[in-house]
Amino acid sequence: MRRLLLFILLTGLGVAEPPAQWDGLVNNPPATPAVADGLSLRLNEAYEAEVTRLGGPAWWLELVHRHCRENIRAAGAHPEAPPLSQSGRVFVAAYAAEQARLAKIQSRYPSEVRWASDEVVGWELPDRTVQFSFDDGPKSGITEPILATLRRFHVPATFFVLGRSLAIYSPDYTGFAVASHSYDHANLLSLNAAALEAEFTDTESQARRSGLKLLRLFRAPYGSRAQRELTAMKKHGLRSMLWNVDSQDWQAAMQARPGRIASRTLALLLLHRHGIVLMHDVQPQTPAELARLLPLLPQLGFKLTPP
Ligand SMILES: [Zn+2]
Repeated sequence: MRRLLLFILLTGLGVAEPPAQWDGLVNNPPATPAVADGLSLRLNEAYEAEVTRLGGPAWWLELVHRHCRENIRAAGAHPEAPPLSQSGRVFVAAYAAEQARLAKIQSRYPSEVRWASDEVVGWELPDRTVQFSFDDGPKSGITEPILATLRRFHVPATFFVLGRSLAIYSPDYTGFAVASHSYDHANLLSLNAAALEAEFTDTESQARRSGLKLLRLFRAPYGSRAQRELTAMKKHGLRSMLWNVDSQDWQAAMQARPGRIASRTLALLLLHRHGIVLMHDVQPQTPAELARLLPLLPQLGFKLTPP
């Protein structure tokens, strides 16, 4: 019966039924790190071809919006334990599929798969606890409205800055955490040892010149890192911090309609119930999407905490 409903739902959206292998995934959403890691790894290996065939922004976004609406309703009725709706289950499958697709096109080590046990991903946070993070800035005209919105709603956040951007512009980060996201956003895996070292030291030097004290956290560009990069981080007294709620605010398809970025982020938070949100303070739509999202979170019982 459930498979029939799923089929009707998906054909209603104009897409094919998911492959039979998704059943286990649909019934076991990624609730714990171990499950999430294993899930992503299995998906990476087994479902790439299927994901490539099915993956498309319209299909994906429809699911996000449907899931978001239904789970907001469910969360309102049962604040402690909202049941995962049928479309929620489809969303879980689609989300995992998206992870597999991103893993394929972007990085050997997708951000949401923990590579070392001491990495911070977001799964470690208590239930209904959320941290916000902003990457790739600072950028004049975008970082400041984001800071103002965070201050207005009393929301803490971490800004993962690029050394080269700090050299051009340095806003007033008073009250917020600032940490390194490398000097120039290189894919660390592609660098030789000297260049990798410079990504850390040049950013530290620039932060000093800008009068900033950096938190001992590091976010690898693209989430792209392996053992060598983690060892280098450790040498500099840095801990790797990733995310598990990707707003995808950098995607043209997400930016195309106001509200999409906020509702995708909300959908993921309702699905995971805890985590680290990734946004970018270089994208023009991000300040407005953040302002849309923040007032909803306390209403849904989320606690917003510093790193
Ligand atoms: Zn980045």
